[in-house]
Amino acid sequence: MSNRTLNLTDALYEYMLDVSLREPEVMRRLRAETARHPKSEMQIAPEQGQFMALLVRLMGATRALEIGTFTGYSALAVARALPADGQLIACDISAEYTAIARRYWETAGVADRIDLRIAPALETLAILRDEGQAGTFDFAFIDADKEAYDAYYEHCLALLRPGGLVVLDNTFRDGRVVNAEDHSESVQAIHRLNEKLRHDDRIHLSLLPVADGLTLALKQ
Ligand code: CA
Repeated sequence: MSNRTLNLTDALYEYMLDVSLREPEVMRRLRAETARHPKSEMQIAPEQGQFMALLVRLMGATRALEIGTFTGYSALAVARALPADGQLIACDISAEYTAIARRYWETAGVADRIDLRIAPALETLAILRDEGQAGTFDFAFIDADKEAYDAYYEHCLALLRPGGLVVLDNTFRDGRVVNAEDHSESVQAIHRLNEKLRHDDRIHLSLLPVADGLTLALKQ
């Protein structure tokens, strides 16, 4: 028995996947293709995708945002959990990576739920706010350049309805947030944002040791 989070040994991690991962074939194939990609570390963990899908269902979300789409695994997990008339606006700057995503979204039959915007996400988010879409989204997933996380967070918080959820990936930054010698801007940006969220009374907060740290910020 333990009243703190267990270190996840390889054996325990495999066990967790064995007894709980329900990954559809199309997602398994996308994950396998992405694993051969030079930037494969940008892919989220499969148990994380399943968890995010559960959150989307739990909330009854119909409108979702994603900042950082890469080859589309997280978007696929979220889009599959949306109702047929749901919408995910996915932001990425790479037409090349997201071309892989589009193939799998088509195969999975959810392409019509995903509105991919190839542009800097800060521009797309500002446009959505200019269009009067603030307060209309249920769910947002942030998984892009760490230096801009705070700006993404502020935009997403504005775009969410009260009771909407922002999910932020990599809030342990590969464990580097506890290395006082690590002054790289991406680590410092995450560390500053973690500190800010701790005291942010606009949200309810939970940081889960899922994958590389997954922060949930529920808008009040
Ligand atoms: Ca990530």
